[in-house]
Amino acid sequence: MSFDTLGLSPALLRALAEQGYTSPTPIQSAAIPVALTGRDLLAGAQTGTGKTAAFALPLLERLFAASRAQGASRRPRALILTPTRELAAQVHDSVRDYAKYLRVSTTAIFGGVGMGPQTQTLRRGVDILVATPGRLMDHMERRNVDLSGIEILVLDEGDRMLDMGFLPAIKRILGSLPKQRQTMLFSATFADEIKRLAAQFMRDPEEIQVAARNSVAATVTHTVHPVDAARKRDLLLHLLSQDSRRQTLVFSRTKHGADKLCKFLEQSGLRSAAIHGNKSQGARTKALKEFKNGKITILVATDIAARGLDIDQLPIVVNFDLPMVAEDYIHRIGRTGRAGAEGSAISLVAPEEGRLLRDIKRLLKQEIALENIAGYEPSRPLNFDAPRPTNGKPRNANHARRPHSHAPSKPHAAANKQSRPWRGSRDARKA
Ligand code: AMP
Repeated sequence: MSFDTLGLSPALLRALAEQGYTSPTPIQSAAIPVALTGRDLLAGAQTGTGKTAAFALPLLERLFAASRAQGASRRPRALILTPTRELAAQVHDSVRDYAKYLRVSTTAIFGGVGMGPQTQTLRRGVDILVATPGRLMDHMERRNVDLSGIEILVLDEGDRMLDMGFLPAIKRILGSLPKQRQTMLFSATFADEIKRLAAQFMRDPEEIQVAARNSVAATVTHTVHPVDAARKRDLLLHLLSQDSRRQTLVFSRTKHGADKLCKFLEQSGLRSAAIHGNKSQGARTKALKEFKNGKITILVATDIAARGLDIDQLPIVVNFDLPMVAEDYIHRIGRTGRAGAEGSAISLVAPEEGRLLRDIKRLLKQEIALENIAGYEPSRPLNFDAPRPTNGKPRNANHARRPHSHAPSKPHAAANKQSRPWRGSRDARKA
């Protein structure tokens, strides 16, 4: 199938050709024709499926390519909400690329940077607003932005936004939008909360699901190397030195761990950078840029900082630690094996992380081969029944945080809630 048959204008087709897109991805083929009719859309799609173009192209077509209504007032006509600053910046970049041959102004509004320039941009007027909920609320409270002209609303990574505690902000924002509008909700998973949100704020949405829930790209090879925790650094270096030219994204469970590992890799002669929540927005943007242009080869990231990172065709993702929550494994390796490319997910797993590995295998519904590397074999076998590790804090420290969360009902929900309260509140404030 080609993009020509989807009902898009020449200006958009030309921009897509320049991007090197030859055929639509499954979510694009399914979503674009429906969205072009103006119907509400509830789409199940993860990062890496091409979901950004799936909502951005019909949005641009309906508002700016097909319609001639260019009002004199520069109130925004489309609003795209995303959970993180990185995703907002990336969606904004993609929208700008696709809109290259249209007369459209877009801006990204997110926290962690000064309000001043954003305020000026908003006051000058902009057609498409890409924003994180927290910072958008700040601007709404200061009356810097008038949302009464919004015709299309997109909620991107809806499940993540709810995970991060943005539900109240989203409800406030939705309450100030015109009722007469098109709403598109994209989410990797459809928990009850997402369904409730959809039922409350959407009109008879068409539901589209391209990847089964919790599935990962079939082109990704998963490998586990069992190794003692104390020898992970050396093993990583050994693996990286076998092919040091390849861009590699390495996941660390903690910010401190990411910094330490990055320092070690740098000292070992590998150009590396770390991105996590304690880094300034400027430092994160710089690291991502240098990783993309090949100036650094290793990017060490924590889960929250890596969410939604748009890095093309990453051949390898390494889990230096396994994530505490099995779902995060899927988000991590969503960066590899994109758009049909081959990808490799390598996990260094210490004996005491066996339980986390078991959770991941259950979620993937797939066995993962264990592959010992000669000279790095662990001192004992993986323990699949060990209690889940607790980021170095005593277990009861986690329990102490529990009153912030609702009583978990399912084992996965329990793991989620235990590890997320602090993350959620921090990001909800900052983003
Ligand atoms: P997304 O899921 O929106 O984050 O997109 C994942 C990656 O796939 C991005 O780098 C896009 O630029 C790329 N992409 C999206 N649609 C296509 C397409 N039809 N052909 C080739 N690449 C695409």
